[in-house]
Amino acid sequence: MTKDNQSFETKLIHAGEPKPRIAGAINVPIFQSSTYEYAGEGSYHDVRYLRLSNTPNHLALHKKLAALEGAEAALVTSSGMSAITTALLTFLKAGDHLLAHNTLYGGTANFVNNELPRYGIERDLIDATNPSDWESKLKPNTKVIYVETITNPIMDVPELGKIVEFAKTHELISMIDNTFASPVLYCPVVQGFDLSLHSCTKYINGHSDIVAGAVIGSADYLGQVTKKLNHLGGSLDSNACFLLHRGVKTLALRMNKQCENAMLIAPFLENHPQLKKVNYPGLESNSSFERAKEHLCGFGAMLSFEIDGDVDQADQFINHLQYAIKAPSLGGVETLVTRPVTTSHALMDKAEREVAGISDTLIRYSVGIEAADDLIADLQQALEHIG
Ligand SMILES: *Cc1c(COP(=O)(O)O)cnc(C)c1O
Repeated sequence: MTKDNQSFETKLIHAGEPKPRIAGAINVPIFQSSTYEYAGEGSYHDVRYLRLSNTPNHLALHKKLAALEGAEAALVTSSGMSAITTALLTFLKAGDHLLAHNTLYGGTANFVNNELPRYGIERDLIDATNPSDWESKLKPNTKVIYVETITNPIMDVPELGKIVEFAKTHELISMIDNTFASPVLYCPVVQGFDLSLHSCTKYINGHSDIVAGAVIGSADYLGQVTKKLNHLGGSLDSNACFLLHRGVKTLALRMNKQCENAMLIAPFLENHPQLKKVNYPGLESNSSFERAKEHLCGFGAMLSFEIDGDVDQADQFINHLQYAIKAPSLGGVETLVTRPVTTSHALMDKAEREVAGISDTLIRYSVGIEAADDLIADLQQALEHIG
């Protein structure tokens, strides 16, 4: 059996593991050493040093993550934002133009809108579901197109195939934040994207106990991103590498269960008389349903919905949930709930939020691995409490 026909679940456990095993250990031990004896390395980037992301903990993770998305290479970083900012700064320079998704993760939006212009990099925001919008915004100096697989908190899915085609036609570097899908649902590089980016803080690690990121793509591009990270300094600490390595092994089990739970919870919410709107691409009524079915191997485990009521009632509902923990972030084994206006989208002004469909009463729900029946009963009892 060659490596290429290993199934995803087998790669999670076996891909990238050092052979022979280090001192026979089943797990890659934590290499708690910042520097290593000089062994004749020919260049700065080859010197063995923790910031240069080349300890055995890093190398094993790089091989595993690359294998999971069917790519040549990967690099772990100190956070999702570090992966995103380092990738953008590797391929954009003063005078370049970026086409960026108009519903980006808050930290990315802030970087694209407020930081990149300070370095002389222009950007236009695009509706990633509408090809004529990005065609009309293309410029001679456009260098990169950047989108997200599933958007936060409305869970729209872009015209992924058309974005890849457009990038190839116009020789743009295509980047996608694949955090919400994870490689269980989508492998961007196999589908033609140049770089796949992750906040591993979310599904890939899955246990809400570290912050980490990853960049995945060709060996050539990853070589360039790694050199940039070596200078910018956002490398992942060895202890966090160890936890990420442990966490990722159960990715398929967790993600499949979370998607299954979400597929049971979404129709319950959609049919509930106290809810106005449910955003989940697995519902046939959802505007992204056909695109999600075409491109993804599942519909994800993130939902959002609006209570038929005011902000106080939305907060009452959240406060009455027994299992869902009121907290930002997502993708862990535990169900988390938040009102995006108070957390992830607090920096956006109200007019912008309304255009993006983010009302004050919108509630975002990250489905965990608890029993679906318990989560549904919990939602039901919390709705009964709304006065
Ligand atoms: C959380 C998140 C990020 C940022 O990741 P950090 O690990 O918190 O730096 C980027 N993109 C998406 C889609 C996210 O959900």
